Amino acid sequence: MFGPQYPQADLLIRSAHVLDPRADLDGPHDILIRSGHVAEIGAAGSLPEPPDTATIDATGKHAFPGFFDPHVHLRTPGQEYKENMDTGTAAAAAGGFCGVIAMPNTDPVVDDASILRALSETAGREAHVPVGFLASITRGSAGAELTEMAELRDAGALGFTDDGKPVTSAGLLRKAIQYQRLAGGVVALHEEDPALSGDGVMHEGAVSARLGLAGIPSVSESTMIARDAALARYEDARMHFQHLSCKESVEALAAAKAAGVRVSGEVTPHHLTLTDDVVRTLDSRFKMNPPLRREADRLALVQALKSGVIDCIATDHAPHAVHEKEVPFEQAPMGTTGLETAFAVLYTELVLAGEVELELVISRMTAGAALYDLPTPTIAPGEPANLCVVDLSAQFEVGANGYVSRSSNCAFHGRTLYGQVLLTVAAGAVAYGAAALEPTAVLGAR
Ligand SMILES: [Zn+2]
Ligand SMILES: [Zn+2]
Repeated sequence: MFGPQYPQADLLIRSAHVLDPRADLDGPHDILIRSGHVAEIGAAGSLPEPPDTATIDATGKHAFPGFFDPHVHLRTPGQEYKENMDTGTAAAAAGGFCGVIAMPNTDPVVDDASILRALSETAGREAHVPVGFLASITRGSAGAELTEMAELRDAGALGFTDDGKPVTSAGLLRKAIQYQRLAGGVVALHEEDPALSGDGVMHEGAVSARLGLAGIPSVSESTMIARDAALARYEDARMHFQHLSCKESVEALAAAKAAGVRVSGEVTPHHLTLTDDVVRTLDSRFKMNPPLRREADRLALVQALKSGVIDCIATDHAPHAVHEKEVPFEQAPMGTTGLETAFAVLYTELVLAGEVELELVISRMTAGAALYDLPTPTIAPGEPANLCVVDLSAQFEVGANGYVSRSSNCAFHGRTLYGQVLLTVAAGAVAYGAAALEPTAVLGAR
């Protein structure tokens, strides 16, 4: 992971309701952070305030381990008009994330160690939270020729993906996972069969038929997951499936896991909370790949998140400029932003609706790190401080005060959500702090 060495925080968070399933904490506590590490956790109101330490009264607020997003698009290098290292990681910090993994489908594609090194240096100067990088599986993500995977691993790649596109050739993917077994790291896959997706722009079903729009069938995704899980089994490879969207994919992943294959899966907040019904508005904010699917798919994804068949939540934060999105639905690029709204969306739409427990959301929003062999953020003595403070009762309208991200193509724009992130501490440093928590001496957003 790459990021600047920021001043390490000395901070006393007073009387927050600390919820960290991994640390077995669920109740009001004081958290003392010294030199960027959790020094002590005590009963609410019990810890004395050391000198030179800012105190935050977090009575009535929650403290969670910092979230980790294994799938974001920071758009740098090459598309900085959509997002850049500064704005993308500031959006992450504003959403309570203490680490993100950036996808390589930039311009140029991260398919060469020199590009990856330059990008790591940019992160080392500008990132507000630590950033990890995946490199592409194939040169230019063109699906024809493998990258120098061992060299890319040496340069710091956590793994490999051609995200944005599938690896259509089974033969090439087989070679890739053979190399990956030697080089280490994770092969992460955006699964779709282009022959089945065709020129589809939304889920293939009743709504697409009504709108007269070309559809992307669920089997476009699930058949590729089944194929590639079989390859992973044959080669004993470590494989991760990105942004699952439908019931059939959940079934394919569950079958592979039951057979002992080393596979994992992620799901986005928008696939967990929205269906293709919203596409009736023809608002291009609802156009993403994979597309929003049926209610039965959404329910299957929620169930898989609960059972653990799906390991973690990933936003697939995909910024696009206004001029790109404000065109007819068929022509708009695919993607929604998600870093600033992920927690509030899941809290409001799933927890408050009674579909899942808050504890589960916290577990799955931190679980992405371990999939890439990174430490899981946890609030425990001796650990680097990676946490966020959230006001669950604070209501806000998405986008009403603009976005920290450079782009505004958020599928939840205009919605009223609960669960405002007030403070984020990432890698021991204050990465985001809203004025709601006084005193704000150390809480200015960078
Ligand atoms: Zn993708
Ligand atoms: Zn993506």
